Amino acid sequence: MRIDIATLFPEMCEQVLSESIIGRARKKGLIDIYCHNIRDYSPDQRHHRVDDSPYGGGKGMVMQPEPIYLCYLDILRQSASVPHVIYLSPQGKVFDEKKALALKETPHLLLLCGHYEGVDERILEKIVDEELSIGDYVLTGGELAALVVTDAVARLCDGVLPDASCFEEESLMNGLLEYPQYTRPELWEDKKVPDVLLSGHHKNIESWRFSQSLSRTQKKRPDLYAAYQKKREKNDEK
Ligand code: SAM
Repeated sequence: MRIDIATLFPEMCEQVLSESIIGRARKKGLIDIYCHNIRDYSPDQRHHRVDDSPYGGGKGMVMQPEPIYLCYLDILRQSASVPHVIYLSPQGKVFDEKKALALKETPHLLLLCGHYEGVDERILEKIVDEELSIGDYVLTGGELAALVVTDAVARLCDGVLPDASCFEEESLMNGLLEYPQYTRPELWEDKKVPDVLLSGHHKNIESWRFSQSLSRTQKKRPDLYAAYQKKREKNDEK
């Protein structure tokens, strides 16, 4: 899978995506990630300007369409595939695990990061396939959002985690939150690891974990729990 990130702050993205699990996956060639500086594509060779004031007035600056378009065309030239283009925006559909799973099946993504007041509407009409938000709040730029999407998608790609069970049992994958996790020592600050986890009885461990998943989802995320129960009732009716 290939992910391109078009941004005014490529170093910010590059630094995060060179570390830990995603950094190792890139080194192993399991996923290709390229961060592009939109400023490099400014037709203004002297000042490398990429923004201007909004027509109609108002505070802040708007990113101009041309540097973004030239960056997009260069990415097209560099790759054999046409990317699915996502603009990170507070106006987009809210990103979740289901969306990460769907995007993982897309061979080539281009994530466009806005800054300031956002980007000229015409570039969205010209190249963007969809808009995604990482939550109902406003960030100063799309970089953190692009990093969130890249991390969530990349970790699902083959070979990035030791095996699929690493994410299959994770929170949200089956509509429930994950059960509590414990590691050594067995006793810490008067708190003991639950006996069942030390029993070696796999069936009992599995059923304990499932009931913990259910109860903590009900407590922490009643919205998810209600959706899970509804889905189960529907399946039972069939
Ligand atoms: N004026 C824009 C509006 O009201 O829709 C907000 C611009 S915001 C200050 C600057 C940039 O940050 C946006 O262009 C977008 O790329 C990014 N951004 C801000 N909040 C975001 C969010 N919740 N999810 C994804 N991207 C976000």
